[in-house]
Amino acid sequence: MTPEEFRAYGRQVVDWIADYYERIESFPVLSQVAPGEIRAALPVDPPEQGEPFADVLADLDRVILPGITHWQHPSFFAFFPANASGPAILGDLLASGLGVQGMLWATSPAATELETHVMDWLATLLGLPGRFRSDGMGGGVIQHTASDAALVALLAALHRTSGGSTEHVGIAAGRYAVYTSGQTHSSVEKACRVAGLGGDALRKIEVDPVTLAARPEHLRELIQRDVAAGITPVLVVASVGATGTGAVDPVRELATIAREHGAWVHVDAAWAGVATVAPELRWLNDGVDLADSYCTNPHKWLLTNFDCDAFWVADRAALIGALSILPEYLRNSATESGAVIDYRDWHVPLGRRFRALKLWAVIRWYGAEGLRAHIRSHVSLAQEFASWVAADERFELVAPHPLALVTFRLRDGDDATRALMERVNASGELYLTHTVVNDNVALRMSIGSPLTERRHVAAAWEKLSGETEGHVSAE
Ligand SMILES: *Cc1c(COP(=O)(O)O)cnc(C)c1O
Repeated sequence: MTPEEFRAYGRQVVDWIADYYERIESFPVLSQVAPGEIRAALPVDPPEQGEPFADVLADLDRVILPGITHWQHPSFFAFFPANASGPAILGDLLASGLGVQGMLWATSPAATELETHVMDWLATLLGLPGRFRSDGMGGGVIQHTASDAALVALLAALHRTSGGSTEHVGIAAGRYAVYTSGQTHSSVEKACRVAGLGGDALRKIEVDPVTLAARPEHLRELIQRDVAAGITPVLVVASVGATGTGAVDPVRELATIAREHGAWVHVDAAWAGVATVAPELRWLNDGVDLADSYCTNPHKWLLTNFDCDAFWVADRAALIGALSILPEYLRNSATESGAVIDYRDWHVPLGRRFRALKLWAVIRWYGAEGLRAHIRSHVSLAQEFASWVAADERFELVAPHPLALVTFRLRDGDDATRALMERVNASGELYLTHTVVNDNVALRMSIGSPLTERRHVAAAWEKLSGETEGHVSAE
């Protein structure tokens, strides 16, 4: 593709994306295709001759769009959001255009230095403790996902606990244990498997039935039992905004217990952490000053296209110790001087995309003020939605909802609750998902799309309420 052709098709692609956002509300939120339908519309064999790019664009509308679940739709209330935004898309496009590999400082100094700089900016914006900043012993790095963050936190923890021996001799089964709340994301169990500890190394901390937060006393019991059996506590993962219900663990108490036993403390705030751009939500950071590592995903609720997980460590030496290997072909004078960061030592792969560019574009376009307004609008819509649920006696709220996730159910029970979800999702008018809270099915209304306005949340409630049998209580 020549620069002239690129210019022409590039304009068409940008127009296509702008048109997509203009007509996004005309699509059913949840894709309505059956399994295999998309592949059946594609040629069996790859093309022998090159095809015009216009044909690709035509197939995008014809074949691909019907199989898209519209995550950017203003009535997408499922899972957690995966925000996209104009500045992030453009920043990502620029990163693709530059096409650099930022594995070492020397392979593109700007890729490394911009990343260090925007991670310090983000730490400031979120009110995170100074120990995570790059000017001390700590520092931030963009990981692909929060799952990668949990894995590298575990590897750093094993490095620190074992004095560096696990990198060479591996891990004997039954030697180390990891602790996290029963509400925690499955990524912690996956990290245990990937790191070679095995799923059995994971201990689930019981949660309080009302707040759904991990109970510190139970963590203490679990650790004491392990220590008595000769098992070393290596990592405690506290959740700020657990995936099912948004539960916030008592980080300070959990971290205090973990530190008594030398265990690494990782705080997983994948969804909720970015909310602390709003100072009134900084209570979410309580106890984070005791953590060894912390992560939150701008790719969920902070307007930055997937993938972008912001991960900080208080002492980068353990992370680098766990992941650094320097083969001859990567040796260079900048690395040898010790004056630069080589981010290849901060994550699992070698190569890395220039993801700082999209985060930089987002922070500059919106400013702190714009980012706060984005979070606040969703929090306030969720509070209003929760008040409608609370006022209707056919429904009940099942968990605290201080942010933009509201979990609720029908008093009629699990079958009715699940059937309601299936009916509203099949309508294509909105999309929401479910979880299980205290053994009961609950629906999750997760508000976070940049396009969501009050009218979309009101329409969702009207749909949920209208699809429910029984009398609406008088308000
Ligand atoms: C979404 C989520 C994850 C996983 O996020 P990825 O970035 O997709 O790996 C982990 N933990 C929590 C609390 C989450 O909400």
